[in-house]
Amino acid sequence: MSSDHRRDVLNRVRTLVVKVGTNVLSTDDDRLDADRIASLAEQVHAIRQMGIQLVLVSSGAIGAGMGLLGLKERPKDLSHLQAAAATGQAHLIHLYDKAFRPHGYHAAQLLLTANDFKNRSRYLNVRNTLLTLGEFHVIPVVNENDTVSTAEIKLGDNDRLAAMVAGLIQADLLIILSVVDGLLTGDPTDPDSRRIPLVERFDDDLLNLVGASKSSRGTGGMKTKLEAVRTATAVGVNVMIANGKRPNVLSELLSGTDTGTLFLGEGDGVSAWKRWIGYTMPPKGRLVLDAGARRAVELLGKSLLAIGIARVEGDFEKGEVVSLVDADGEEFARGLTNYDTKATRTIAGKRTDDIARELGSVPYDEVIHRDNLVVISLTK
Ligand code: GLU
Repeated sequence: MSSDHRRDVLNRVRTLVVKVGTNVLSTDDDRLDADRIASLAEQVHAIRQMGIQLVLVSSGAIGAGMGLLGLKERPKDLSHLQAAAATGQAHLIHLYDKAFRPHGYHAAQLLLTANDFKNRSRYLNVRNTLLTLGEFHVIPVVNENDTVSTAEIKLGDNDRLAAMVAGLIQADLLIILSVVDGLLTGDPTDPDSRRIPLVERFDDDLLNLVGASKSSRGTGGMKTKLEAVRTATAVGVNVMIANGKRPNVLSELLSGTDTGTLFLGEGDGVSAWKRWIGYTMPPKGRLVLDAGARRAVELLGKSLLAIGIARVEGDFEKGEVVSLVDADGEEFARGLTNYDTKATRTIAGKRTDDIARELGSVPYDEVIHRDNLVVISLTK
């Protein structure tokens, strides 16, 4: 049963988010483990060669910064934590970049806060950046932007950040690498505790299996991991929790080795995302398209270009959901717009070359990118 599910889930992985915890990346004397990072880079390369897009969410900045600044204990106050994060982050990215280079990749750094997921326009920017980075030989490495994250806007732990990133790009699988073998039936120190290989449906009772354990260097424990699992599985993302100290853990997981705990996502990622754009968010405006643009969007799977827009109605910001309707007012699609009402009105009906003249620049070739668009007449 479990191995069938594994094979099924793994065969379908096209987009993967891997979260690496501070403890996985640290040596016993609290330095960043360059060998571990080099081994991760090798595994990342093997994954990319399988045609899988991959985003890393990596902790370790504060831990590395503590070492570099000579701080013996994790600071309690925000400003020292932030100083450690700022110092350690540069080092962290440098090590990733150095480890990726021999395989032909660059590391791209994305530092995010909770606001980037709440604000529609920021959300769309992050999504567009991640999807665009996938076109290049680049591995995006995401961390929380600790230096600007005050308590109110703090995501708090990278398990949660990784779950949100996985939802944002509709990843098929999120792998959380920790220093435990997965979800256990009891306390990790109890010799009778057994690893649970598969959780078919997330249930809040699982949270009772684990205490509020904290990891020593990072911020998460099993409880925060399970909360992240709940967030990700609810939007259709499958999640694995596995031991990042195993030498070839990613390659093992992707080749179907029975290690770690697999939590199955509810439904599948694409349908959750389509539901979200198509049905959950009320549209803030309408774009009336000519017949050619309707055909391109509805039947040919194309992005919406300004030239196909005949009229703009409503009042919307960049990143909000708008309806696409034909000349008779029939709605056939919805999507997240790259331009607000005013800019869309200015460029409606114009060619991409003319947009530069109108707006001074062309921030996006498409008004709605096809990755951010749902044809609802066909999916209903
Ligand atoms: N942003 C923190 C760091 O890089 C990690 C937070 C976490 O471990 O969950 O050190």
